[in-house]
Amino acid sequence: MAIDSTDLPIAAMAGEAGPHAADAFALLADETRLAILLALWEAHDPENDDNSLPFSEIFDRVDYDSPGNLSYHLEKLEGQFVRQQGEGEGYEIRTTGLKFVRSIIAGSGVDDVTLEPTEIDQPCPFCGAPTTIGYRDGVVIHACTECPGTAPDADAEGTLSVVPFDPVGLRGRSPEEVWAASVVAALRGARSMFQRLCPACSGPVDGWFECPDERETASENRRLSVPVRAHFQCRICRNHTVDPPRGLALFHPAVVSFYGEHDVSTHVSADDFRTVKRFHALMNGHDVEIVSAEPLRVAVTVRCDGDELRVTFDETVRVVDVTR
Ligand SMILES: [Zn+2]
Ligand SMILES: [Zn+2]
Repeated sequence: MAIDSTDLPIAAMAGEAGPHAADAFALLADETRLAILLALWEAHDPENDDNSLPFSEIFDRVDYDSPGNLSYHLEKLEGQFVRQQGEGEGYEIRTTGLKFVRSIIAGSGVDDVTLEPTEIDQPCPFCGAPTTIGYRDGVVIHACTECPGTAPDADAEGTLSVVPFDPVGLRGRSPEEVWAASVVAALRGARSMFQRLCPACSGPVDGWFECPDERETASENRRLSVPVRAHFQCRICRNHTVDPPRGLALFHPAVVSFYGEHDVSTHVSADDFRTVKRFHALMNGHDVEIVSAEPLRVAVTVRCDGDELRVTFDETVRVVDVTR
């Protein structure tokens, strides 16, 4: 069935993503086209010079009824998702096609993957009580078993952090490894947003600070965790993240080398739980304060062996000063 992309609600809503987003949805809303992309993805090997499949092999792999219909669908995919190498030659998947297939794989099992809250070897940074890691609805939830937690807008009491995480990433990982991987995933996203590149769509990103009112800071946990929150949002796809500035400071090279001079590594690895524990300890040791309201300036102070380094952010969450 042909879908006129201008009829889709997404066409009206796509905004800056433009009518092409609607076209892509319409184009891929077809099982045969998805099967073609999967067949070409299977044939794709970065080590090969030639990743193309001849028409006859696509026909076999897709297991379709008539060659005529198959070429109709292949033609639809050509250009944006698939490239034919030349007249009468094979077809290969393009980068946009690979990206699309990968997103399907990353999301596979969305409905059935859950992890019941399980205790891990990482105490709560605020009260020292045991913490748990759980997974549902596409997010990893790190929670304290005793205190109210600190995550903004969390549904559950005790929530320390909520990190979007692809369900397939739970495969073969212990709860502690899931936590470590989710921290690295959060850092990857935060670093990209901080560097003004949307990790979801490569669009430009705006940053701003949200300063809490008195009521919020009255809670000891709020004061310790997020006196000020940094927001980032993509102008194109509206991807939005909230990060504590104490963690953002660790993206600055001056902070990395400051720790380096004291033989403290800031490196994290998703397959090494200890590196993630160490990173968390460093981050939670940083002090955050609003040093000026007009213009807004937020400073993060990093301390090690009696030495001190202060990183100052402006109202758009860009570093404007580093003082030792
Ligand atoms: Zn706690
Ligand atoms: Zn985006």
